[in-house]
Amino acid sequence: MSARVIDGQAIAAELRAAVGAEVQRLSRAHALTPGLAVVLVGEDPASSVYVRSKAKQTVEAGMRSFDYRLPESTGEAELLALIARLNADPAVHGILVQLPLPKQIDAQKVLGALDPAKDVDGFHPMNAGRLATGLPALVPCTPVGCIRLAKTVHASLAGLDALVIGRSNIVGKPLIQLLLAENATVTVAHSRTRDLGAACRRADLVFAAVGRPEMVRGDWIKPGATVIDVGINRVTGENGKNRLVGDVAYAEAAEVAGAITPVPRGVGPMTIACLLLNTLRAACAIAGLPEPTV
Ligand code: NDP
Repeated sequence: MSARVIDGQAIAAELRAAVGAEVQRLSRAHALTPGLAVVLVGEDPASSVYVRSKAKQTVEAGMRSFDYRLPESTGEAELLALIARLNADPAVHGILVQLPLPKQIDAQKVLGALDPAKDVDGFHPMNAGRLATGLPALVPCTPVGCIRLAKTVHASLAGLDALVIGRSNIVGKPLIQLLLAENATVTVAHSRTRDLGAACRRADLVFAAVGRPEMVRGDWIKPGATVIDVGINRVTGENGKNRLVGDVAYAEAAEVAGAITPVPRGVGPMTIACLLLNTLRAACAIAGLPEPTV
């Protein structure tokens, strides 16, 4: 059996186009242009690439992009002052602080200082709590993207056995909440899980968010299962060149799974598309307009 490949790149492009169309409608009907501020502290090369890509896609979707690049030596008070300015700026509907932050800055303090209404990464404790209690919230982008990808395979996730590998605040925990809201039966695995292979073999849906290259093996996958691979790991190939691999041994798993996301071009592009969607949602909520139907 060879799995259907879930083309995250194409699905993300469709979502970005739908967000762009809604942005145009808002602009015409309400003279409202959503604005996203992205704050990068320091020179981390991977973060710089992400931030460039986010800014480019924001503009392509018809939104305003505000780019703040601060030196590595920036102090916590200075960053908090910028956050306070952005919180108060009516042209800014979404604020994203690119992680990781340099060690002199307490990331939790900075995330906690964001206006929850503009917290488009969904990391503020208020949004995490609202998600956990089933209230409307801004939800972290990667898990939202994972659910959207899974739903391209299953019209409903209700009753399916879902395994989430990883319990980070950014991916695993919000994903668990979203799966519960979809009425899936959820198992969570982490570094202390005793028999991960056995847990995996029971799952109709596997979400791998670990950060360990190709850890999930093909013989762990239940035949026909849907596999969503969140991991992004840079490894050196036999030819000495770097390449990206996921947390799932793709070639092996694709022989057994019913559907699988590749790495790259799987979950990654959906994360940015969902960031644009969150910015649109934030702009509508702040303006007192109905939730967009994208
Ligand atoms: P974290 O390092 O914050 O969390 C990793 C999780 O994996 C932890 O819960 C940890 O368990 C668990 N874990 C570690 N080793 C094992 C193991 N041997 N067996 C089972 N579980 C294990 O990572 P993130 O959640 O931030 O990211 C996970 C991956 O997803 C990374 O590769 C990251 O690059 C990628 N990522 C991709 C994104 C995208 O847009 N595609 C966005 C965000 C992340 P414990 O809690 O016990 O330590």
